[in-house]
Amino acid sequence: MSLAIVGAGLSGLAAAYALRDTDLPVTFFEKSRGVAGRAATRGRGDVRYDHGANHFKTKSDRFESLVRDDLPTDDLEKIRGDVWTFEEDGDIQEGDPEKNAEAKWTYRDGVSRLGKHLAEAAGADVRTETRVTLLSREDGAGNAWTLTDAEGREHGPFEAVLLTPPAPQTADLLKASRLGDDVLQEHLTGALAPVPYRTQLTLVLAYRRRVERPDGCYGLLNTDGAHEIAWLSFEEEKPGHVPAPGSDDTAPESVLVAQMGPDWSRPRFRSEREALVPEVTALVGGLLGQDLARPRWADKQGWRYALPEEAADADALADGAEAGLFFAGDALAGQGRVGAAVESGLDAGARLREAL
Ligand SMILES: Cc1cc2nc3c(=O)[nH]c(=O)nc-3n(C[C@H](O)[C@H](O)[C@H](O)COP(=O)(O)OP(=O)(O)OC[C@H]3O[C@@H](n4cnc5c(N)ncnc54)[C@H](O)[C@@H]3O)c2cc1C
Repeated sequence: MSLAIVGAGLSGLAAAYALRDTDLPVTFFEKSRGVAGRAATRGRGDVRYDHGANHFKTKSDRFESLVRDDLPTDDLEKIRGDVWTFEEDGDIQEGDPEKNAEAKWTYRDGVSRLGKHLAEAAGADVRTETRVTLLSREDGAGNAWTLTDAEGREHGPFEAVLLTPPAPQTADLLKASRLGDDVLQEHLTGALAPVPYRTQLTLVLAYRRRVERPDGCYGLLNTDGAHEIAWLSFEEEKPGHVPAPGSDDTAPESVLVAQMGPDWSRPRFRSEREALVPEVTALVGGLLGQDLARPRWADKQGWRYALPEEAADADALADGAEAGLFFAGDALAGQGRVGAAVESGLDAGARLREAL
């Protein structure tokens, strides 16, 4: 028995973690250079910033005990400060006290550390920079799956495959595949393809000086969906992310993460960073009431499939199990949340354990 997992985001890694005490050989195929997917962190000099998921909450007991009891906690950091809110008019208000009472977490070197901890605890074999383009099942050989990557290399055979990319990408992969069963192929792609996702651009803006914001405010959330900025936060509120300025007079003191709303992001998705920075700094400066025109440096990331807005049809996807096809990811929860992705991976691990 052997299992291939397509995608080393949190859902795939959580599934492998759930199977760590079995002797099932698990191989990950991940298109990017590292693990953790949309729970993404980048570094520049000594600065770390979370440009995908900005923090996470542990809302379920299972996720809470995984993070607080089972995985290493020496680098787990509670974020100081609250989330404030604003609407279309840009008027900033103190946020919801109940929501602000919930702990917000990241790690000292970024939120992607959660994926690295899961990968290490699972003993995962991860083939990075390997984009799977096709699955094929050998005729008459039961569930013997071969995976073909973008370089044309073949991997396998595997008795089971767990697919974890965002739903439309998994649907495209299945459409391009040879499942040997047209009805099943249509049934599974039909459960994934219609899931709508928010498209977002992230702009990261670093300033030599401290950018002013209301006292005790770590992040600002647009609550009516009508402002160009969906989320704005300050990485220096996260321990370890923005070291205090020392002798290096080029080091930034404030690093802002601006997640732009879908209506603003979609038409600009392919624009160069340089073209976007003046517009974003004007919007962020307008919201905070100060001139932020010249950041020390800036970064940009586009998320075509940032957050699912509806859930995939989990019952239909369960019909893939007989053919050795399993599914996980935040689309199964219908919610773009770190905890939802991990929960979905743990559930997939349990289904795989039962089936194999
Ligand atoms: C901008 C943004 C802000 C967010 N903010 C928050 C937040 O503050 N709090 C929160 O809880 N959540 C937040 N989220 C949501 C959270 O990051 C996701 O819900 C979660 O990380 C999804 O995990 P996943 O495993 O389902 O998918 P992914 O992380 O997308 O993992 C899928 C993996 O599959 C890989 N892949 C795709 N196609 C292929 C292929 N063909 N072959 C090989 N590999 C492939 C991808 O590279 C990726 O690593 C945010 C997400 C974004 C994008």
